[in-house]
Amino acid sequence: MITGPATVSVETVPDPVLPGPDGAIVQVELTAICGSDMHFYDGDLPFYPMAVGHECVGRVVEVGPDVHSFSIGDRVLVASVAGCGSCLGCDTGDPVTCFSGPKVFGAGELGGAQADLLAVPAAEFQLLRIPPGVSDEAALLLTDNLATGWAGAADATGTVVVLGLGAVGLCAVRAAEAQGALVYGYDPVAGRRARVANPLDSVESVLELTEGRGANMVIDAVAHDSSLDAAFASVRSGGTVSVIGIHSLEPYPLPVLMGVYRSITLRMKTAPVHQTWPQLVPLIQSGRLRTDGIFTHSFPLSEAASAYSAVAERSADCIKVVMRP
Ligand SMILES: [Zn+2]
Ligand SMILES: [Zn+2]
Repeated sequence: MITGPATVSVETVPDPVLPGPDGAIVQVELTAICGSDMHFYDGDLPFYPMAVGHECVGRVVEVGPDVHSFSIGDRVLVASVAGCGSCLGCDTGDPVTCFSGPKVFGAGELGGAQADLLAVPAAEFQLLRIPPGVSDEAALLLTDNLATGWAGAADATGTVVVLGLGAVGLCAVRAAEAQGALVYGYDPVAGRRARVANPLDSVESVLELTEGRGANMVIDAVAHDSSLDAAFASVRSGGTVSVIGIHSLEPYPLPVLMGVYRSITLRMKTAPVHQTWPQLVPLIQSGRLRTDGIFTHSFPLSEAASAYSAVAERSADCIKVVMRP
C-alpha cells in the first residue's frame, strides 16, 4: 500500500470477497511493480492510501456460480485492465472500449495485485490460464508490459526508434524486432542502452543513420515533453509517433501545423490487453519473442518498501522487480 510520496507499507486488511457471481478470487503467487505504480510513489498521482499493483500471476481459490471456464486450482494471469466482459467493446478484446468504462487494478476502484489475494470481476474475460511453454515471468509480462509494448509497436516496419528502455520500452523493442523492423533504442541511462542490439547515444543520431529522413516509427515509452519533442524531431515525414508512456496531467504543446505538413500519424494507446494474448502467446511459445532479461530483481512482498526504492533509483541494473507474497 502506498500511503504517501515514497512511503510504502505492508498492512493486514480483510480478505476480499467475490465481486459478484461472475467473479473469482486469485491467490497471488507473483506480482510486479510497473512504471505506472511509480506515479503514486513519486507523488504525480497523489491519491492515498492506494492499494497498488495491477500485474499478477496466481491460483484461482474461489469462483462465483457464473464462472464455468475456470476452477479452483487453475494457475492464471490477470489482465491489468478490466472490462465488464459482456458488451460490444469488450467483445473486441479491448477493455479500454468497455461500455461501462475500463478499470485498472490497484488504481482505486479495484483491489491491488500487490497483495495475497485479488478479487477479479468478470473472471471469464479477465483471466487467462497460463499457457504451456510460457514461463511465470512471461505470463506476468502478458498482464501489461508486453501487451503495451506490442500495442505500441503495432505495424512496425523499417527503421524504428524506441525512447525509454525500462520494461515497457524493452518489450516494445522485442515486439518491433519480432515483426522484422530494424530497432534502435535510446535511454538517458547508458547502462540501459546496453540492453538493446542497436543503442543510440542521442535520439537525433537516427537522422544520420537514415540519410536525414528519420525513423518510420518512434515509440515513446516515456512521454515527457522532452521525449515527445524528440519523437517528433526524429520521425520521418509520413511516419508514426506512437505514445505508450504515461504523461503528466499537464497538457503538451502539440506542433499540429508541422504534424499536418509532414503527414505525421500520432497514435496513443493503453494496451488492449486481452486482444494481444492470441498474438503474443504463440510468439513466446515459438521463441520468436524473447521475454528474458526484463525482470532483474526479486523481493518478498513483505519487503515492498525496499523493492520500490530499488525501482525508484532508475538505475542501469534494476529494470523490473518481481515480488512474491
Ligand atoms: Zn502497468
Ligand atoms: Zn465491457
